[in-house]
Amino acid sequence: MSEKKLYTLPELPYAYNALEPFISEAQLRLHHDKHHAAYVNGANAILDRLDKARQVGSDLDMKATLKELSFQAGGHVLHSLFWSNLAPAAKAAKEPSGALADVLKKEFGSFERFKKEFTAAAASTEGSGWAALAWCGMTGRPMIMQIEKHNVNVYPMFRILMVVDVWEHAYYLDYKNERPKFLEAFWNIVDWDEVNRRLEAIIK
Ligand code: MN
Repeated sequence: MSEKKLYTLPELPYAYNALEPFISEAQLRLHHDKHHAAYVNGANAILDRLDKARQVGSDLDMKATLKELSFQAGGHVLHSLFWSNLAPAAKAAKEPSGALADVLKKEFGSFERFKKEFTAAAASTEGSGWAALAWCGMTGRPMIMQIEKHNVNVYPMFRILMVVDVWEHAYYLDYKNERPKFLEAFWNIVDWDEVNRRLEAIIK
């Protein structure tokens, strides 16, 4: 049987200073190299713990173990999506195009209305968490998720198109406690082409 795979920390698709002035190099290094890495390591440690218990036939606290795995793996998945839906401001389109522009207009009435609702969701996520734009395959409608921690309030099977991390570790070095300022900055570095590619891959 082939070796079981573990999670790996993806490299950023741009330089650490590429998102300046909206996200500083120091902020991005800390966030990617320390925080994201910790979720990768955390998830792998639990997979290892599960494997070892299975090998020796010992019991684990399944409730606690699975809750922790959901948190760590969720953190890894969301951070991976986050890095790749950002792009240097010079490269990032100002607004969505293609199918994404159409579905946002149909659902929200306008891009501005979507931005307003998404920003409000991200600004009001309680404690540590995320806002995500997701796709409901049952209705064919885009939906906003307000994810707490990395794993609470997630709609099962809804494909995530775009996320913003609103844990304090995502913006504290640059913006201190001012999450709205970070969100304002975020809109300058969204890679709309990538978000559109994610949607078109689903609805093709
Ligand atoms: Mn984070």
